[in-house]
Amino acid sequence: MTNTAYPHLLAPLDLGFTTLKNRVIMGSMHTGLEDRFYHYGKLAAFYRERAAGGVGLIVTGGISPNRQGWLLPLGGTMNWIGDVLNHRRVTRAVHAEGGKILMQILHAGRYGYQPFVVSASAVKSPISPFTPRALTERGIAATIRAYARCARLAKLAGYDGVEVMGSEGYLLNQFLCARVNRRLDRWGGPIENRMRLALEVVRGIRQAVGPDFILMYRHSVLDLVEGGNTWEEVVAVARALEAAGVTILNTGYGWHEARVPTIVTSVPRAAFASVAGRLRREVNIPVVASNRINMPMQAEEVLARGDADMVSMARPFLADAAFVAKAAAGRVDEINTCIGCNQACLDHTFSNRRASCLVNPRACHETELNYTKTDKPRKIAVVGAGPAGLSAATVAAGRGHAVTLFDAANEVGGQFNIAMQVPGKEEFRETVRYFARQLETTGVRVELNRRVTRAELLAACFDDVIVATGVRMRMPAIPGIDHPKVLSYLQVLRDKAPVGRRVAIIGAGGIGFDTGEFLLHDPSHPLPQPIAAWAGEWGVDLEATVEGGLVKPVPARPYRQLYLLQRKSTRPGAGLGKTSGWVHRAALARGGVQMLAGVRYDRIDDAGLHITVGGEQRLLAVDNVVICAGQESLDELTAGEASSATAFHKIGGAALAAELDAKRAIREGAALAARL
Ligand code: FAD
Ligand code: NAP
Ligand code: SF4
Repeated sequence: MTNTAYPHLLAPLDLGFTTLKNRVIMGSMHTGLEDRFYHYGKLAAFYRERAAGGVGLIVTGGISPNRQGWLLPLGGTMNWIGDVLNHRRVTRAVHAEGGKILMQILHAGRYGYQPFVVSASAVKSPISPFTPRALTERGIAATIRAYARCARLAKLAGYDGVEVMGSEGYLLNQFLCARVNRRLDRWGGPIENRMRLALEVVRGIRQAVGPDFILMYRHSVLDLVEGGNTWEEVVAVARALEAAGVTILNTGYGWHEARVPTIVTSVPRAAFASVAGRLRREVNIPVVASNRINMPMQAEEVLARGDADMVSMARPFLADAAFVAKAAAGRVDEINTCIGCNQACLDHTFSNRRASCLVNPRACHETELNYTKTDKPRKIAVVGAGPAGLSAATVAAGRGHAVTLFDAANEVGGQFNIAMQVPGKEEFRETVRYFARQLETTGVRVELNRRVTRAELLAACFDDVIVATGVRMRMPAIPGIDHPKVLSYLQVLRDKAPVGRRVAIIGAGGIGFDTGEFLLHDPSHPLPQPIAAWAGEWGVDLEATVEGGLVKPVPARPYRQLYLLQRKSTRPGAGLGKTSGWVHRAALARGGVQMLAGVRYDRIDDAGLHITVGGEQRLLAVDNVVICAGQESLDELTAGEASSATAFHKIGGAALAAELDAKRAIREGAALAARL
């Protein structure tokens, strides 16, 4: 592969006993397919597509070396010969496409969501209900043997190596840091003792697998928790790992219990790469940068700057299996970019559902959702170029149907054009760019500024009309709703209506929170947020001068005084994403936003918004009231006389406004288009 735009990214890496074809690693992700033997066919198909897409090295989701190490009850384990057969399906599929794959060995320690959990000390984690048992000396010896056995079996299964998960607060990280390791024996106390388990594990594995087997170690370089390691300790461990036989040093940032976001969309791209760079100067083995690197240009810059020898991207390979092949062919504008939403990947994993991808519903469904060429091309109209319509139009056209896409607006993207106005959601622009390019490559005829009617569609004799007209916003019936100080979120986010400094937001759903972030942001501050400003706001010390890399946050001064209101008495923001909602809640709390639940809206007048809360009447003396009270389906096309010639189908918001999100919209569009 040669492409002058990415000379570093696409350069091979010679490890002495084997050569990786480029510098791109598909990082470990738990897909939910690795825990049951009957899913290994699907798992193999998932990895096969990624290998075919040209990635240099794949790392599987975490596989436990024993029962105590399970993340979830009956989680994927490699501890007897029977497991080898399942995994061979995966390695064969990857090797058939010319790829290389490592199996990640993950012992969850106290993060296990199961009763057998163990750790360095009996210190419960804030994110698990189970208190771990402190491993005994015998238990530690058995754990080291389990790692070695697991790696030996991985080799037997055909893997090119293993990655030992030593970061994100899992077992080895727990031993490494005084936060959890309170031991007084030779496994606790000074760093030489706390790192002993990691080193013994590496030595045990190396002895079990021999020299010509990749042993990557994911090392926590910024713990981002109190009681994390100092930079000197991080470096000392890295050097010791190198001496113990590690081939490649991957980097990890933040324990799972850290209150600093490390991968959500508002984290600036490649925010942590400089920390990998600091580590790279301390060791002589290849170092890998990771976290929020999602496009070839960032990855190339990281390598060109000398911050790393390789770049690990995980979610970008859910979004697009052919990421590397497209970069190599100079087709970067065709990459389906991971927007860091976590909605279909991590949110699924943490609620025990199979992972997928909001922008690519085929991810982890490669054997079930296929866009095969049609031998009966149909004439299809898609009305609405939001996520649902874009997905339907491009999949249908890609399969060979003749597709015309109509939108009343002057651009494609629907509500994504509004979402991308929200600070920290700039990535949503990439999805619109991707689909716009797909419309070109698949040959969809696009008619913008066209609000079509049912009569027009019937007259044009389409075989199918896909109604993807989305939603209209809901205006609640509050006395004074017509007052000039009332604005809709569309007027604020899309039309940039002038807004005063004191604002009440009615509705605390996703859009209420987003509107809050928009209104808190000082427009004189640049977006996307520069890395240094983001790090200051969250208290991240990228220079790693303090223990764990945590310093006192310096939040930006809130630009406005905000109230965020809802009628329900539940906690505002409770319905936001499992792995991203806390970031939004923290951002608004830091901005001093007063969140009120159990509110009744009495009236709006010149004085402001009158409410009753907790039985008491209150006046919120605000300049503006912004309505974010949800939406209703917009469907002006399916009502009317039936037509025997034209079939009407509804998807996305047009089908159902309740609990609509882009994940459902895109999935419904693709699934329908795959069936036609
Ligand atoms: P829409 O995006 O509403 O698209 C409908 C399209 O149809 C529009 O372009 C409209 O112009 C066109 N149209 C309507 N009637 C006609 C007609 N008669 N003729 C021609 N064209 C017509 N979702 C998430 O999953 N995650 C998020 O983080 C997220 N954040 C958001 C933030 C904001 C501020 C907003 C506003 C939305 C956000 N959403 C998010 C919601 C997401 O954007 C919607 O769920 C999604 O856009 C719905 O897709 P859709 O295609 O059904 O409808
Ligand atoms: P939403 O999540 O349904 O929230 C609507 C809000 O309006 C709720 O707080 C609701 O709370 C309130 N409300 C509903 N009817 C009302 C009425 N008649 N009067 C006053 N208040 C009323 O909808 P949304 O915020 O508009 O978001 C739309 C969709 O976009 C969501 O389904 C969401 O999935 C998606 N989205 C997702 C994200 C994300 O980060 N994942 C971000 C933005 C949007 P009460 O009924 O308690 O008052
Ligand atoms: Fe990325 Fe969102 Fe897809 Fe996850 S669901 S891979 S975060 S785009």
